[in-house]
Amino acid sequence: MKVVSTVLLFFILGTVLQAQSSLATMNWESKLRSVPSQEKLREYVQKLSARPHHAGSPFGKENALWIQARLKEWGFQAQIETFEVLLPTPKVRLLELVGPKRFTAKLQEPAEPIDPTSSHLSEQLPVYNAYSIDGDVTAPLVYVNHGIPRDYEELDRRGISVKGAIVIARYGASWRGIKPKLAAEKGAVGCIIYSDPRDDGFFEGDVFPKGPYRNKDGAQRGSVMDMPIYPGDPLTPGIGATPNAKRLDLKEVTTLTKIPVLPISYGDAQPLLEQLSGPVAPESWRGALPITYHIGPGPAQVHLKLQFNWDLKTIYDVIGTIPGSVYPDEWIIRGNHHDAWVYGAQDPVSGVAAMLEEARGFGELLKQGWKPKRTILLCAWDAEEQALLGSTEWVETHADELKQKAVLYINSDSNGRGFFGAEGSHTLERFINGVVRDIEDPEKKIPVWKRSQLQRISDARTAEDRNELRQRFDLRIGALGSGSDYTAFLDHLGIASLNIGYGGEDGGGIYHSIYDDFYWYTTFSDKDFSYGKALAQTGATAVLRAADAEILPFDFSNFAETVRRYLEELKKLHQSQQEEIRERNKQLAEGVFAAIADPQEVSVPPPVSEEPPSINFAPLDNAVNQLSRSAEHYEQAVKKNTGKSLPDSKLRALNSKLIRTERVLVHPDGLPGRPWFKHMLYAPGQYTGYGVKTIPGVREAIERKKWKEAESEIIRAALVLEAEAKLIESAGNEFESTK
Ligand SMILES: [Zn+2]
Repeated sequence: MKVVSTVLLFFILGTVLQAQSSLATMNWESKLRSVPSQEKLREYVQKLSARPHHAGSPFGKENALWIQARLKEWGFQAQIETFEVLLPTPKVRLLELVGPKRFTAKLQEPAEPIDPTSSHLSEQLPVYNAYSIDGDVTAPLVYVNHGIPRDYEELDRRGISVKGAIVIARYGASWRGIKPKLAAEKGAVGCIIYSDPRDDGFFEGDVFPKGPYRNKDGAQRGSVMDMPIYPGDPLTPGIGATPNAKRLDLKEVTTLTKIPVLPISYGDAQPLLEQLSGPVAPESWRGALPITYHIGPGPAQVHLKLQFNWDLKTIYDVIGTIPGSVYPDEWIIRGNHHDAWVYGAQDPVSGVAAMLEEARGFGELLKQGWKPKRTILLCAWDAEEQALLGSTEWVETHADELKQKAVLYINSDSNGRGFFGAEGSHTLERFINGVVRDIEDPEKKIPVWKRSQLQRISDARTAEDRNELRQRFDLRIGALGSGSDYTAFLDHLGIASLNIGYGGEDGGGIYHSIYDDFYWYTTFSDKDFSYGKALAQTGATAVLRAADAEILPFDFSNFAETVRRYLEELKKLHQSQQEEIRERNKQLAEGVFAAIADPQEVSVPPPVSEEPPSINFAPLDNAVNQLSRSAEHYEQAVKKNTGKSLPDSKLRALNSKLIRTERVLVHPDGLPGRPWFKHMLYAPGQYTGYGVKTIPGVREAIERKKWKEAESEIIRAALVLEAEAKLIESAGNEFESTK
């Protein structure tokens, strides 16, 4: 009875998709959700984070083999796929202040006696930025705040150039790889990135080991590859890095940095920053160090010397499979990386442990006679940290098959205590909302969906936002750009993707440091692994629901509505640029800048710019209207047929169209200047990195004031949206022609 009334309720609310979950599926689901155990999660996290396990390390390989053995034990077919990739590791790291005072940076995170694993110094990968080039430079230092475009405009206004200088930028406000990229474009010869205590150190809370935040010597490793061009192995863009793959020469690679880059702690940064003079940094540039922040240039003179081993190394992906019993050629793919920078109890072990509990759950179901309709793949990726190598090379290797068979990809990366969060393809927004309505929050014993909604109501800034949160049936999910292993699936091949996880109650400053380990995780984060269990329940439910759904769980109403919002944002962006430039030109003509400039300080007025012309958004307006109509038509068709079964041939035709709805959104030529990125709706920003660009071709053309390019990108985006609308329309017709 309960099931029937649930179905009715969902029908009334318009979630026709849940209505298709049969009673049988619901029984399997609740069995599946009862499997994940906090004790098992603790065991896996302790085991997998016991020693440093970066890609290319002996323990990394051991972990991959251990994961493979567990998957086999639980009834999966499991294999290791290896790739040979360029994986540089540091040979020489030297950073010294050579004048006016002398100081040599320590570049070492010390062991903490209370933290048992932090002392394996010989196995730890030192603090460095992967895919920095070799270099040996001595130059005056300039502080550039976060080192993003806005910061360089500020420097221009003060007549300060970084040409020939070494810049020091703080972490934050962009993906780290953007900082050296932009610094090099501005003429800098070296780049230092440091963790300011304002962002994840003592300004935020007690530092490790007293508290969870970054201590004086803690530093953030990380990739600085130009991933907005393409991620994965630098030597094999667009193809899998198999042993016999045709490789680029190192000289031909475009994704390495152009200047040497090194990340440091604030213990090492403070002596450098103290030796800067020149103008005092604007208030928003100041961190929490007990110094007056100056910009420079100099008089601090810095010597930076870096050399790397440019070796090919073997990486190990683990791929576990349960073949589908009805639709073996429709694949539901779930993944999380297994490599860490060092111990990585949080990043990635907390995520991979949850995925292992999902796997054990599927094993239990298999023993009880369950067979998934569709094929399930569980993937533990290697070398995510350096540049998403394991997932990218696997996707490129299997691209043809994936284009045919992949239904969707569900990623997680790491997990913590707190609120559920998801980003992804908007066609899956309704689906993932449905999943988390059925997951209980371990702290509050309410659905995690509800807790997330109430948190957003509390955080909302306007009455309008709060109203929407109360009225809209589904919580919105953010768009995905890049930053984890979904990138190749979504951006390169157009496979609908989701990224899921919990967090928000366990801040800290151990990201990519040696202190992200079992001691830290069990002292400051998801101590009892109850949110690990919630993630396992969430991932498992999503995979099972997609694998056994009669009609694949894509929804287009939220999608069409969201694309319309993106279009409105683009129009506003263009309009605000027009207004801003009109106003600035007016002030230049009035003499505002000349009149207010302090003659005792350097001040350069902004240049007069041409006012942006009008842009013709009509092709996108028409395409979005068409998309809305098709989405409405599809929703009505599904509603009308709720409770009825489609004949098998219709069902297969319908599902194969639904699978293609994300594929249609890619353009074979890709985005301007970066053809690897083929999705016309989602991509990482070229100058923000993680920062997601929606309808990125159009958006970035407007930002760079390339009006002709903006109009041609509008036409290209409109064409894929029109094709999408037609496909959705024809998916809807599969229902109607059954009468
Ligand atoms: Zn990670």
